[in-house]
Formats: sequence, structure tokens, C-alpha cells
Amino acid sequence: MIRIAIANQKGGVGKTTTAINIATAMAATGWKTLLIDLDPQGNASTGLGIASADRARTSYDLLVEGTPADECTMATAIPNLEIIPSTVDLSGAELELVAEENRATRLRDALREHKGHEICFIDCPPSLGLLTLNALTAADTLMVPLQCEFFALEGLSQLLQTVERVQGRFNRDLGIVGIVLTMFDRRNRLTDQVSDDVRECLGNLVFEAVIPRNVRLSEAPSHGLPALIYDHSCAGSRAYMALARELIGRLPKERIAA
Ligand code: ATP
Ligand code: MG
Repeated sequence: MIRIAIANQKGGVGKTTTAINIATAMAATGWKTLLIDLDPQGNASTGLGIASADRARTSYDLLVEGTPADECTMATAIPNLEIIPSTVDLSGAELELVAEENRATRLRDALREHKGHEICFIDCPPSLGLLTLNALTAADTLMVPLQCEFFALEGLSQLLQTVERVQGRFNRDLGIVGIVLTMFDRRNRLTDQVSDDVRECLGNLVFEAVIPRNVRLSEAPSHGLPALIYDHSCAGSRAYMALARELIGRLPKERIAA
């Protein structure tokens, strides 16, 4: 299973929207896909129509209780897409794990024997705390949603420092599969400027596909649906399909099932 963490410690930059829609796009392309909601806010779970009351086993059980991953996995309305949901309980995990020696590797250990999915996306909370650390330690690679705004690059350098620390201590092979520009508004000159700066600074690391600011993307979660299902032809959905194609091109060929 290829494991991709979707992280940026800045809040509201499009992590969850990206996680839901890239996971849906991969599932639609035939990949057996797992989405792990590692954010106590549970937005990815809600956005995929999983009511709180139905979240029997969650990422909290996976991380803290040691429940096997396949027991925490739930179906979604989308064929090929399953989820390990989260609830607010997960906010206690950081404290509960603080004294555990393996606290940074809990997720990696929990997924080590997991079979049945070809790709997994991990939706991280907006912080660089223990939950995100677990995601980065468990992941093969990282995808970073970046909103084109003035402070974007500052936050990014902090994230990249964290990646280096994780590479040094827990996960030497952690890669960065790409940075995806989100909520792009071509009528806004600052957006253009920031996007140019980011591309100049980071070159090929930035995906060609850019996610536009699109009202359908923000409406879809309130219907418990990925935008790709809610309105598959809107500009946002098309952008996420393009992102998925690009992502597949960037995955290590030897890890892609024949
Ligand atoms: P958090 O840090 O709280 O987890 P996040 O990084 O996961 O936030 P999202 O929840 O995906 O960010 O997005 C924040 C808000 O912006 C949501 O209301 C979402 O619907 C909206 N949004 C995300 N991407 C877009 C977009 N491309 N166009 C319009 N609205 C968007
Ligand atoms: Mg989120």
C-alpha cells in the first residue's frame, strides 16, 4: 500500500478537501483506496457522509487502543473507497500517548501488516503535533496543499524543517510527492504573485494542476459527498481529476500494481 500524508500545519488551506477528492478520484480510477481521518475535527469523515453515531471504530482505536486497521475501516458511498473515520476522541490521543515510547510510530506499526488497499491518504490536523508526526512517520510520501496567500511560504519552511527532522529520526525514506496550490483565484493578483514565487522557489515540486477557488467544492461536504460525485464536471472536480492523473505519474512505478 502506498501511503500519502496530506499535511500543512496551517488551518483551512484545503487539506481535507484535497484528501476527500483525490481519494475519490483514485478510487474512481480503480484503485482500492483508504482514507484515514487523523484529525479530531472529523471533517473528512463528515464530508464523506459518515454520521458521528456510525463511527464505531475510529483512528483513535487504531492509534491508542491498537485495534487492527481492517476492524476500523468503514465503507463509503463510493466504490473502492473506504475510510477510517475520526471523532473528537482523537484529540485526547496526544496526551494519552505522551508517555509511550513508540508514540511517534503508532500509525506506522498499525498499518504495517495491513492489506486490502493499494493506496492510502492520511488527512492531518492543522498542527505539527503528535498526530501529524505519526502520519509523517507512517507515510511513504507527503502531499502539501498550499493556499496562495502572503504567509504561505513561511509556513511551508516550518513544515519542511519538520520533514527533515522526521527523515532524520523516524522515516529516512519520507518523500514529498508534491505541493498543490489550492483556492487559486486568477482574478486576485496576489494569488498570481504567490503562485509565481512558489513555482520559482520550488520548481517541479509544485503540481501543474492547480485547484481553483470553486463554490461547488465548498458545498459538497454539506451533502456528505465528494465534489467529484456532487458535481463531477465543475471546475474543482476537473482540477482534482487532473491532480490524480499527475499524482499517478509521480508514484514509484515498481509500487503500482500491474
Ligand atoms: P483544517 O486545517 O481545519 O483541517 P483544511 O486545511 O482541511 O482545514 P478544508 O477543510 O479542506 O481545509 O477547507 C477549508 C474551507 O475552505 C472549507 O470550508 C472548504 O469547503 C473550503 N474550500 C477548500 N478548498 C476550496 C476551494 N478550492 N474552493 C472553495 N472553497 C474551498
Ligand atoms: Mg481538515
